[in-house]
Amino acid sequence: MVDVHGVHKSFGALQVLRGVDLQVRPGEVTVILGPSGSGKSTLLRTINHLEKVDRGWISIDGELIGYRRSGDKLHELREKEVLRQRTHIGFVFQNFNLFPHLTVLENVTEAPVSALRRPRKEAAGTARRLLARVGLEDKADAYPRQLSGGQQQRVAIARALALEPKVLLFDEPTSALDPELVGEVLEVIRDLAATGTTMIVVTHEIGFAREVADTVVFMDGGLVVEQGPPAAVLDTPRHERTRAFLSKVL
Ligand code: ATP
Ligand code: MG
Repeated sequence: MVDVHGVHKSFGALQVLRGVDLQVRPGEVTVILGPSGSGKSTLLRTINHLEKVDRGWISIDGELIGYRRSGDKLHELREKEVLRQRTHIGFVFQNFNLFPHLTVLENVTEAPVSALRRPRKEAAGTARRLLARVGLEDKADAYPRQLSGGQQQRVAIARALALEPKVLLFDEPTSALDPELVGEVLEVIRDLAATGTTMIVVTHEIGFAREVADTVVFMDGGLVVEQGPPAAVLDTPRHERTRAFLSKVL
C-alpha cells in the first residue's frame, strides 16, 4: 500500500503540492492526469524521496519514506537508508535514462548486483527473463543507441522490475516516443497491470487510463481535484476543472 498523506511541497515561494492525499492498494494501478505544472512529476519525486516534503508524509507498506518516527517526532533517515528504500521503488522516466555505455543486459543487471549484492550470474538470468517479458530477449547485447525509443523504454521497464519493486512509478513513459512506438510500451505496462504490479502512472493517454487504471486521479494546482474509477472521472467528471482538462485532451 502506498499512502501519501497531506503532502506539501514548495520551491521558494511557489507552492507546487498543497496537501495531496493518495492511497494506492497493492496490485492496483493509479493513473494521474493533470495540466502542465500541476505537480504530477513533483508528487512522483516525493514518493521516492528525490524531493523532500515540507509537510505531510509518505509510507509504503507501512514504512515511512525518508524518515523514522520516534515518539511524535520525525527524524530524517541517512542517505544510505534512503537509497535502500529507493531500491524498492521503481521509477521509469520520460527519457528512458539508460546507461549509454552499458549493454541492455548490463543495464538490467547493474542495480541488482551493486545495490542488492546479487551474484552477477543470477542477476543475468533474471535480466534475461525480464527482457523476454518485455519482448527484447534478442537485444541483450545491444547498446541503447542501437535501439528505438520504444525498445529503450521497454529496457528501462525491465531494469526497474529487476529490483522487485513494491511499486512502479511512471512519469509520462510514452510522451517522448514517436506515435507508432507508444502502443508497444503501453502493452508492456498493461501486461504488468494484469499480473498485479502496483503502479502509479502519469500519462496523457486517456484510452490507456480508461482500460487499465483502477483509479484515475485528476490533479490541478497542486491538489487532487477529483479521483475515482475511470468511467466516473473520465465520463462523468464532477468538477469543472476536470471537464475543461478532458475536453482539451480527449
Ligand atoms: P508537466 O505536465 O509539464 O510535466 P507537472 O504536473 O509534472 O507538469 P511539475 O514538474 O511537478 O509539474 O512542476 C510543478 C511546478 O513546480 C512547475 O511550475 C515547475 O516549474 C515547478 N518546479 C518543479 N521542480 C522544481 C524545482 N526543482 N525547482 C523549482 N521549481 C520547480
Ligand atoms: Mg511532469
